[in-house]
Amino acid sequence: MMKTIDVQSPLDGSSIGSVEAAGKSEVDAAVSRAKQAFAEWGITPVKERVQPLFRFKQLVETNIRELSELVTAENGKTVAESEAGIRKGLEVVEFATALPVLGQGGKLEVSRGVDCYTRRYPLGVVAGITPFNFPAMVPLWMYPLAIAAGNTFLLKPSEQVPLTANRMGELLLEAGLPENVFQVIQGDRETVEAILDHPSIVATAFVGSTRVAKLVYERGITNGKRMLCLGGAKNHLVVVPDADPEITAKNVVSSATGCAGQRCMAASVLIAVGDCSEVLAAIEREMKTVIPGENLGAIISADAKARIEGYIDRAESAGAGIPVDGRGATVAGKEGGHYVGPTLIDGVDIGHESACEEIFGPVLTVLHVDTLEEALEIENANPYGNAASIYTTSGATARYFEDRASAGMIGINIGVPVPREPFSFGGWNDSRFGMGDITGEDGIRFWTKEKKVTQKWSAGAARNWMS
Ligand code: NAD
Repeated sequence: MMKTIDVQSPLDGSSIGSVEAAGKSEVDAAVSRAKQAFAEWGITPVKERVQPLFRFKQLVETNIRELSELVTAENGKTVAESEAGIRKGLEVVEFATALPVLGQGGKLEVSRGVDCYTRRYPLGVVAGITPFNFPAMVPLWMYPLAIAAGNTFLLKPSEQVPLTANRMGELLLEAGLPENVFQVIQGDRETVEAILDHPSIVATAFVGSTRVAKLVYERGITNGKRMLCLGGAKNHLVVVPDADPEITAKNVVSSATGCAGQRCMAASVLIAVGDCSEVLAAIEREMKTVIPGENLGAIISADAKARIEGYIDRAESAGAGIPVDGRGATVAGKEGGHYVGPTLIDGVDIGHESACEEIFGPVLTVLHVDTLEEALEIENANPYGNAASIYTTSGATARYFEDRASAGMIGINIGVPVPREPFSFGGWNDSRFGMGDITGEDGIRFWTKEKKVTQKWSAGAARNWMS
């Protein structure tokens, strides 16, 4: 019997729907359908394959309000944040529609009369497993490219936000994508394991926490799949004394509190080099303008709220100051919702858990050091490696930081340095398991296999119908 998963809105705790979790037999059935669909889709020319994606983009834009409200209902972020995430995801759709151009192989006469050229082929049935924090955008990092490349795709969204994925599936069908080229299979750990153990699923992309990314990567690789798994993060923002206080404060606070801090690119540690008191005072003022239920969304669950508040409690017990304290936040009329206000933790040791672990809430831990070298040492020592940013008005300082920070995405006066297409998204260290990034040209490589052709045609001496 299938297990029913109830979906509750983090905004107010209300029930907004339910889905049936797929077990092994439902995953088997979905894979059979995907295999059948692949027989035709995999040999459809790429220029035809991208046509539904053009229409899909338009349909998403036409329905952007409804979709944004759906993301907000199940995830809890503000409607403006939901819309921004969807639009960011659409950039990957745009990129995927360029596959007829981007997917062209090279060709060269490598010796007299001998040509070498490359062609890209789809892999077959592939899957994507995604987290709760971007119900539309993170899946969009995966399926437009995978589908345009000729694969048939199974999406397993987070069981905490399963509804947006279903709606996207309807829009893909409406856009003319053939049945079963894209399927949503709902569920949790058991469903993921059925995907990872299925011999006919040849590649899987995963985005989620580092603990699970590592488990999923290892199980998938052991089963012979191509795997790319993006994990969690602890992003450091370094401020030096020459940074512009007002611009820096606004940017830092929006990085730390946007999407209620529930993004893998969120600022989590601010390292103040030398005397940055003016910037810190401006950050405090700016944080106080961020109000739960107004310009700050909800936390995904009661458990997540308790986890975040636990970090703040323990930092306080360890002697830190909490100059901005978001614990116990509530929103009038939404008492069943889960909210944490913006929070500043100041004065913990560099080894304290609040300075080292992913908190995944609107919480910024401030560390104080004397030199940029010390700041870089802290950043480099952290096992994660998604993003690192510096705030400065000196190009030389920025360049120095850019070369030495151990992260896949660097921000210079930008606290959420998400590369936009055609640049690809992906971190380093424990923020990624597997080769390559998830979007951009690496995305094309991940979802395809390349064939190299070496050819020689001898005209021959005899006259034939060509001569
Ligand atoms: P999560 O790891 O709990 O869940 C992600 C997916 O894995 C979900 O679909 C879930 O059903 C499944 N899952 C959970 N436990 C599992 C298990 N034991 N075995 C197999 N599958 C399992 O992550 P989350 O809480 O939904 O999302 C937040 C995390 O995702 C944060 O750590 C965040 O940094 C990370 N994230 C990373 C990126 C990135 O690009 N690096 C982007 C977004 C989110």
